[in-house]
Amino acid sequence: MADEREGTPGCGYVALGANLGDPSAMLARATSALDGPGLRVLGRARLFRTRPVGPIPQPDFLNTVVEVESTLSPLELLDRLLQIETTLGRVRAERWGPRLIDLDLLALGTAQVQTPRLTLPHPELARRAFVLVPWAELAPGFVVPGTGRTVAQLLAALAPGPDEVIPLP
Ligand code: AMP
Repeated sequence: MADEREGTPGCGYVALGANLGDPSAMLARATSALDGPGLRVLGRARLFRTRPVGPIPQPDFLNTVVEVESTLSPLELLDRLLQIETTLGRVRAERWGPRLIDLDLLALGTAQVQTPRLTLPHPELARRAFVLVPWAELAPGFVVPGTGRTVAQLLAALAPGPDEVIPLP
């Protein structure tokens, strides 16, 4: 049961997004790549289709959130995510541009980190419906460190915006 693991030191959440090539295949490959030394996938939300953020016209994204169990430090886990992005062929380009695969570390247990390379919990998570909708499906009761609120509460508090987050059939 996800609820028993939530808040344990090694339990983390990774947001995945892709909107080029075959996005659902990319998300599947990224999810498989997360299983490895020191890291194990425990669960995944459904895939959701979402509108791109920002000024650049581009295809819709597919997004999801994966729950992992990790013995890695937060920075080691970040490095693993960046390595998976590189392996899967992501070319870093403009900030709001299309991407083959994007992996963001949302939270790792109760860790709060503020370094030039890593901010935990992820600083944008409370503003992003495409993160909170799948995350709330997977772990509604997880208390996001530093906020005193659960994922479900953050989703309920999200100001209505143009975001449409639609589950794939
Ligand atoms: P982006 O791919 O545009 O989301 O930006 C990735 C960069 O953001 C990485 O090179 C990280 O150093 C930095 N970063 C800071 N905090 C996080 C986080 N919680 N998850 C992923 N990347 C992060």
